[in-house]
Parts: sequence; structure tokens; C-alpha cells
Amino acid sequence: MYMKHKRIPDETIRRLPLYLRGLVFLLQEGHLSVSSEKFGDYVGVNSSQIRKDFSYFGEFGVRGVGYDIRKLAIEIKGILKLNEIHKAALIGAGNLGSAIISYPGLQLYGFDITAVFDNNTHKIGKKIRDIEILDVAKLGILKKKNIQIGIITVPRNAAQETADALVKAGVTGILNFSPCYIIVPKNVKVITIDIAGYLARMPYYITAG
Ligand code: ATP
Repeated sequence: MYMKHKRIPDETIRRLPLYLRGLVFLLQEGHLSVSSEKFGDYVGVNSSQIRKDFSYFGEFGVRGVGYDIRKLAIEIKGILKLNEIHKAALIGAGNLGSAIISYPGLQLYGFDITAVFDNNTHKIGKKIRDIEILDVAKLGILKKKNIQIGIITVPRNAAQETADALVKAGVTGILNFSPCYIIVPKNVKVITIDIAGYLARMPYYITAG
């Protein structure tokens, strides 16, 4: 099992999924060890940052040989608690929601969207992939299904009420794709992905010159 470690800064935690993905790909390519320089080039992070990040969770480097990829991957999975499958519910089976349900990249980290909800009577009862779209009024079943993660892909004006309903249903982690700030109790973690907001920073960088 993974080692006890010092408290890891959020900045490092943010990079761990990226590292894990790089390590998994390297393993798939048949590599067993990698130097911080090579790994840095592979994931686009400078090698001193990588060495610093890895130093938070023990000694995985062997001088002249590099880091043990398998051990590192197990360690990072342990830290992120990605050793088990995490079931998630998605609310809002529109275009974005459907695309996320079909996105294969979630599997690498062990996420499985097992419940989908909407309030549109034309959508309820239909299926996306193999998953039946349920009435959002039935969100309460998440407790029974032991689903703790909710993905919000409803329009902005419905995001807060959806978050409230998710919290009421026992969800403690929300990935919010609605372009707004949502208010939740302290024990609930919200990560907002504001696609248009990210894009809005782009012209600032590209119009110079
Ligand atoms: P479509 O036009 O097919 O609905 P869309 O992606 O353009 O797709 P949006 O208006 O962005 O639709 O809404 C996303 C999804 O969220 C839709 O399926 C909509 O029915 C659903 N939705 C809207 N309000 C709620 C709500 N309060 N609770 C649950 N689902 C909702």
C-alpha cells in the first residue's frame, strides 16, 4: 500500500492526475523506469518541479535508473484515492452531458457514470449509451446507490438548484460545467470547469505581435 506522506499542497495534487496519466501511458508502452527529465518532457512539466512533487510521497527514484513507474503510479493512485471505481451521476442529458457520458477518458481514472438525470419529459426514459435517463425528481436514489460524485451539465439558471438537490442526496463532490458560482456546504467540494471562461483568456495571449 502507499506510504504515509506529508500534507501535499493543492498545486501538487492538481498535477497528480496528469502524472498518473503519463505513467500509465509509459507502462503501456513497456517502460519500467523513467528519469525526471524524460518524464518532464513527456508531461510538459519541468523536471525540478517533478522531483519536488514526487518528494512529497517518498523515495521512488534510483540514481542513474530513474523513477520506478509502476510504484509511482500505485502511490499516486493511493493518494488520489483512485484505487477503486468511483461511481458518478450526471445531471442534464443535453449535448454537453451526452458528450461527457460518451467520453472514454474517464475510465483511465476509474470513473463510471452510472446514473443520468434530466427534467425534460421527452428525455426521461430514453437511454444514452446503456444508461437510462431518470427524472431529476428521483435524485434521492443516489444515497441508496452510494454515488458521491455529481456532474452538473444543466443550464446556468438551473445549476444552483441542481447542486442543492445533489447535496441533499448525499453527494460530496460536484464537477460543475455550468458557467456560474455555486454555493454548497463546507464539506462539499466543487470544481467548476468554465469552458468559455478558459477560452476568453486566449485572445489576450494570441493577439500580441
Ligand atoms: P437540448 O437542446 O437537447 O436540451 P442542450 O445541451 O442545448 O440540449 P441545455 O439547455 O444546455 O440543452 O440543457 C442541458 C440539459 O439540462 C437538457 O437536457 C435539459 O433538459 C436539462 N435541464 C435543464 N434544466 C434542468 C433541471 N432543472 N434539472 C435537470 N435537468 C435540466
